[in-house]
Amino acid sequence: MKTKSKIKIKVKRVSEKKRKEKPTDESKLGFGQIFTDRFFTMKYKEGQGWYDAMIEPYHPIVLDPAAVCLHYGQLIFEGLKAYRGKDDSIYLFRPYENIRRMNASAERLCMPTVDPDVFFQGIKKLVLLEKDWIPRGIGTSLYIRPTMIATEAFLGVHPAVEYLLFVIVGPVGAYYPQGFSPTKIYVEEEYVRAVRGGIGYCKAAGNYAASLLASKKAEQKGYTQVLWLDAVERKYVEEVGTSNIFFFIDGELVTPPLAGSILPGVTRDSVLQIAKRWGVKVSERRLSVDEIQEAHASGKLKEVFASGTAAIVSPVGQIYYKGKEYLINGGKTGELTEKLYNEILQIQYGEKEDPFGWRIRISK
Ligand SMILES: *Cc1c(COP(=O)(O)O)cnc(C)c1O
Repeated sequence: MKTKSKIKIKVKRVSEKKRKEKPTDESKLGFGQIFTDRFFTMKYKEGQGWYDAMIEPYHPIVLDPAAVCLHYGQLIFEGLKAYRGKDDSIYLFRPYENIRRMNASAERLCMPTVDPDVFFQGIKKLVLLEKDWIPRGIGTSLYIRPTMIATEAFLGVHPAVEYLLFVIVGPVGAYYPQGFSPTKIYVEEEYVRAVRGGIGYCKAAGNYAASLLASKKAEQKGYTQVLWLDAVERKYVEEVGTSNIFFFIDGELVTPPLAGSILPGVTRDSVLQIAKRWGVKVSERRLSVDEIQEAHASGKLKEVFASGTAAIVSPVGQIYYKGKEYLINGGKTGELTEKLYNEILQIQYGEKEDPFGWRIRISK
């Protein structure tokens, strides 16, 4: 049997007066605004490898103004969650998939990879130390944000030799406190998110900076999200905002294939596996806006939804393309969308058996 790599993680005390007040109203948590008392950090130096794994009081990080991440964008991240079950068990959902993806991003950006078991231990230890911050209500969770940055002070376009890996965590609210609300999405024809051969499949900071202008434009026009088209022909759908996209057409659940420009979502993969197990025909294939328009015209386009860790699935009620509005399923959440949402939610919170072995219980 392969023995798992172990590291020593030093834990620094958080003094009583430095402890933050925990939020009391779970309905006001929102997303990405509150962070806990501690964070995980680990350093890297070429020739030495990763060292100084630590859980320390949450504090600002000091960077040299010449740090490579600030100039040339060697910055990657991940996003996953810890869930509290009814019996107080704490679960992670497919964390090794996030770790694998972070390492894939690292390789693409010439950054160091991390031993998956070491990375997992860091996350687990941090989540358990911050356990009291994990909210209780279904749909609420502790968001986990691993990040890696190039810290070397050097103004040359060259991979850095020093890095910092850190993980911050914070409680987040339920995405649908008042039930589903289908979104309106805008098919973007002017700007593109990513191109094959680029870094679209990585959670790299630059991708998100590149997406902001199109999002802003869509928002100004009254849309929630951008539906990205492929960068070459501007014909095939790729992703929606920072989520993957699914179309349910005539009994076939279609999502674009992972061909380099699309982020390989953990939720995307979970949706595909669950739908397949249910006997739904699933396809990873190119899907043009023309085909979507035709399916809509013939009444075969039944449901559209986005997938991602934040919302699990998010129904799309309306699509804007070339001056026209296409209403999906009467602007209401589809049956398959809702069923997939409930299935994944219940697996994550330990309320349903987990035939795939996706859930990892880290406490109790
Ligand atoms: C994170 C992300 C997704 C969704 O990935 P999950 O692992 O399901 O959360 C999809 N697209 C983009 C661009 C993303 O950044």
